Amino acid sequence: MPVALVTGISGQDGSYLAESLLADGYEVHGIVRNSTEENLAALGSPANLRLHSVDLLAPDALESLLRDVRPDELYSLAAVSSVAASWNDPVMTGAINGQVVVRLLDAAHRLQEEHGHPVRVLHASSAEIFGQVAETPQRETTAIRPSSPYGASKAYAHLSVGVFRGRGLHASNTILYNHESPRRPEAFVTRKITASVARISRGLQEGLELGNLDARRDWGWAPDYVEAMRLAVAAPEAGDFIVATGVSHTISDFLDAAFARVGIDDWSSLVSVNPAFVRPVDPAEQLGDASRARDALGWSPSVDFETLVARMVEHDLELLDA
Ligand code: NAP
Repeated sequence: MPVALVTGISGQDGSYLAESLLADGYEVHGIVRNSTEENLAALGSPANLRLHSVDLLAPDALESLLRDVRPDELYSLAAVSSVAASWNDPVMTGAINGQVVVRLLDAAHRLQEEHGHPVRVLHASSAEIFGQVAETPQRETTAIRPSSPYGASKAYAHLSVGVFRGRGLHASNTILYNHESPRRPEAFVTRKITASVARISRGLQEGLELGNLDARRDWGWAPDYVEAMRLAVAAPEAGDFIVATGVSHTISDFLDAAFARVGIDDWSSLVSVNPAFVRPVDPAEQLGDASRARDALGWSPSVDFETLVARMVEHDLELLDA
C-alpha cells in the first residue's frame, strides 16, 4: 500500500486530495492542528487515514514524523492561503508558507539520503509568485517578482523546491491559479459571492460589498488541480508546472454568472464597491499557460467557468434549504 503524507489536509485542496488518494488505496497521513474541521468530516474515518496533531513550527517534529511514517509521497499544502491574511501577519506567513516547506524538503531529503527511503514531494506553489506580472499569459519561465507577503513566502518555498530537486529529490511545484469549489471558505471572494447570492435570492441578505470588480483571474475547479498535483508526483521527471485553465474572467463576470443562476440579470443595485476591500498592489490580471502540464503530465481542466460558478451557487442554495 503506497503511503502519502499531506500537510493542510483539512483545507479545500487537502480534503479533495485525501479523498482521491484514499480511493486509490493509499495509506494517508494528514497533519492537522484542528481535527474537527468540516472538510475532514467529509473524509469519514476510513482505516487507512491517520491524522497527526503536529505543530509545523516545532523543531524536529516534521523530521521525526517523516521517519515514523516513511511516506512515498509528501504533499506540502498547509499555508496561510490568502493574500489578505498574509498582510495581517507577514511573519507567520513566511514561517508557515516558506520555512515549513524547507523543513519538509530537508526532512524528505534526509530520509532519502540517510535512510534509503525515496520520497516524492509536491509543493502547492501559486500564481502569486509572479506578482505584477511581467507577461501574459504566465509560463513557468515568467519572472518571479511577488507583490505580497503571501507571494514572497510562496516564492521562497518554490525556489527551495528547485534547490532540493538539484540535490536529487523528486520535488515538484504545481504553480496553482485560483481554484474554487463549495469547500472554499467565505473569506475568499468567489465563495463570498456565491453564498451572498444564495442568501439574497432567498431574501436573507440585502446586498454585498466587494473590492475591485475589474480584477481578472483564471479560475478553475479544485479537484482538477488536485489531480494535477498527483500527476506531477507520478511523472518520471520532477519539475515546475503551471496549473490553470488559460481563460480569465473579471469579478463582474463572476457576479453575472452567479446572479444569473438565481434568475437575477441586473445586480447593479445589489453590489457596491467598498474601497476598504480594494488592494492596490493586487495583480490586475492572472492568466496561466498550462501547456507544460498538458504535454508532460497529460493534464487538462474538466470544468468550465460557468459550470464552476453554477456548482458553487447550487451548493449554497442547498445549504440554505437543509
Ligand atoms: P485552505 O483551504 O486555506 O487550507 C489551508 C490549510 O493549511 C488548512 O488545512 C489549514 O489548517 C492549514 N494551515 C494554515 N495555517 C496553518 C498552521 N499555522 N499550522 C498548520 N496548518 C495550517 O487552502 P487551499 O485552498 O486548500 O490551498 C492549498 C494550498 O494551495 C495552499 O498552500 C495554498 O496557498 C495553495 N494555493 C491555493 C490556491 C487556491 O486558489 N485555492 C491557489 C494557489 C495556491 P486549518 O484547517 O487548521 O486552518
